[in-house]
Amino acid sequence: MGYPMSDEERAIQARARALMDTEFIPYEVEAEMNEGNVPDDVLERQHKAVHEAGFDALNMPKELGGGGFTQFEQVLVQEQVGRVTNGLAWIVDTPAAWFPQVATPDQLERYVKPTIRGERSECYAITEEDAGSDVGAIQATARRDGDEYVLDGIKWHVTSFNTADYIFFQGRLTEGPNAGTTALFIVDKDTPGIRVRRVPQYSHTLRFHHAEVEFTGVRIPAANLVGAEDDGMAYAYSWFRYERLMIGARCCGAAERLIDESTAFAKERVQFGKPIYENQAIQFMLADSLTELWAARLMLYETARGIDRGEDLKVQHAQCSMVKLYGSEMAGRVADRAVQIFGGRGYMREYAAERFYRELRVERIWEGTSEIQRAILADQLAKRGAEALVG
Ligand SMILES: Cc1cc2nc3c(=O)[nH]c(=O)nc-3n(C[C@H](O)[C@H](O)[C@H](O)COP(=O)(O)OP(=O)(O)OC[C@H]3O[C@@H](n4cnc5c(N)ncnc54)[C@H](O)[C@@H]3O)c2cc1C
Repeated sequence: MGYPMSDEERAIQARARALMDTEFIPYEVEAEMNEGNVPDDVLERQHKAVHEAGFDALNMPKELGGGGFTQFEQVLVQEQVGRVTNGLAWIVDTPAAWFPQVATPDQLERYVKPTIRGERSECYAITEEDAGSDVGAIQATARRDGDEYVLDGIKWHVTSFNTADYIFFQGRLTEGPNAGTTALFIVDKDTPGIRVRRVPQYSHTLRFHHAEVEFTGVRIPAANLVGAEDDGMAYAYSWFRYERLMIGARCCGAAERLIDESTAFAKERVQFGKPIYENQAIQFMLADSLTELWAARLMLYETARGIDRGEDLKVQHAQCSMVKLYGSEMAGRVADRAVQIFGGRGYMREYAAERFYRELRVERIWEGTSEIQRAILADQLAKRGAEALVG
């Protein structure tokens, strides 16, 4: 029973679930108490387990050594990744899926293939102090100088800067025929002129930092320009679509675990001589959470199936926004109810409800805030009508 899927898809789902239950969930509390870290031997074993499960670079093309998973299969895996706190299961790495389509042969060899093999990893430096939702407002600059570009600027919230070894950097061209437009560049992290200004603390406890990074006169080969000079934003849109769908998936996984754990707890926890589950106030919270999870999951699965069928790009874009908007807000409500059901325990860091309550908050902020998703949807609705988007 359940949502219709092939035996192969169900097997992927079961394999991902078992992987999370055995290799990741048991280490959450240890990670929470150790700034997101687990012992090196555990980390090594987790990498091996992901490899053995066949989940290395699962979003990348098979011909380049990736897993070649469909969007639907990826969603099934990412849902399970979302059941784990502290970003422990981010080891199920999904490199930039748009990159192979635009990479030069040289970039394929130096960046794409080693990333798929797990030898290199990337981070994104787009956001700035005055350019968040308004990515078009970036002030970082890029200037062509012979066979090189020179990059300058300060980037905020660069996730995984501490674990990555190269950076996608977005900068505004100051000279030449495309002056004023933005372009995307690949920057090796050890290039002179890159400095971490600050490693701020955030609500969640992850081993991946979100550094504030300064680029001063950073010289990179002209061959490290991604695509053409004036299409820096095109990649961002493709990346946003993908990430928004996968955020929706991880939020569904988180909600499922929260519902499972709070149901089990409510059945066991006795107050006033009976399990708290027997109170309608508790039952109704769980019933609402379950209903909202199902709605989010159906939206997620249908959107992924549509992408696999080759749905119109604009429709994909709008539907991915809906998945992210509804999924992240749903998961936030589910986490809030879970904390309430766990009572005082729900406020303790050793409980998953507390960790999810903090961790899920950012899902409404990154990759486009909820307000930005609504703005995208309102714009699409005015242009295309409801029938085209949800008919
Ligand atoms: C943990 C974390 C990790 C991140 N990782 C990365 C990363 O790896 N690389 C990277 O480049 N960036 C990263 N970001 C940045 C992230 O994408 C931005 O924080 C996000 O896009 C919002 O931008 P902002 O924080 O500047 O908020 P602002 O854009 O200043 O928004 C503030 C508020 O105003 C609202 N608002 C803004 N414009 C409008 C509007 N037109 N209509 C209605 N409301 C509006 C927003 O919705 C929000 O509520 C990360 C952020 C966090 C918190």
